[in-house]
Amino acid sequence: MRILIVEDEEHIADGIKFNLEAEGFEALVVDTGEVALEEIGSTKFDAVILDVMLPGIDGFEVAKQLRADQNFVPVLMLTARSRPEDVLKGFEAGADDYLPKPFELEIFLARLNGLLRRNEWARSVPKAKDGRETINGRIFDLANLQLHTSDGVQNLTLMEAKLLAYLIEHEGQAVSRKTILEDVWGLQEDTDTRAIDNFIVRLRKILEDEPNDPKFLKTVRGIGYRLDRK
Ligand code: CA
Repeated sequence: MRILIVEDEEHIADGIKFNLEAEGFEALVVDTGEVALEEIGSTKFDAVILDVMLPGIDGFEVAKQLRADQNFVPVLMLTARSRPEDVLKGFEAGADDYLPKPFELEIFLARLNGLLRRNEWARSVPKAKDGRETINGRIFDLANLQLHTSDGVQNLTLMEAKLLAYLIEHEGQAVSRKTILEDVWGLQEDTDTRAIDNFIVRLRKILEDEPNDPKFLKTVRGIGYRLDRK
């Protein structure tokens, strides 16, 4: 397994590299987002450890560019602050998970291993027996984080897939933004729950015929959202 570490603080980068190698990973360190994008463009990595605060383009921008290039390598973002806004910004940019600094090594390795086995989460979605769900004629392949439409196959980030799976699991029920933040993102703190809305907009674009007049992923005024396939 080959891991790319994007981190400009040398002692942190070295610490991560040392420990990854001790666990049997191959690890490469780069210290800017620009070089990271070049490396990812030319070499296949199994995961990317991505610091947010970098000289030049920041970690958010790196994640955004990767996803825009249809590269869905698992990304674990390292945030200096555990502000929920930063965490959500990271997920919006396309990160799969985050870890606030400073972190304990065991937790870091557990998160990384979780990302490397990320398909396993699909099995915890009880309704998706064969790992597939159909919404509006589009097939959501939970295990592979893909959506098959008449236009082709579209990749989903882990968070997009988790949110969609959560809505499927609670189909027919109105779920609040706060509940979504807690259950899907694991955020307990008070935060701007409107950040959820950006994800809903993205899901509607891929699920609905007319995203501005949704038939399946509906807004429930004063509460949040409800998925209905009937
Ligand atoms: Ca940094």
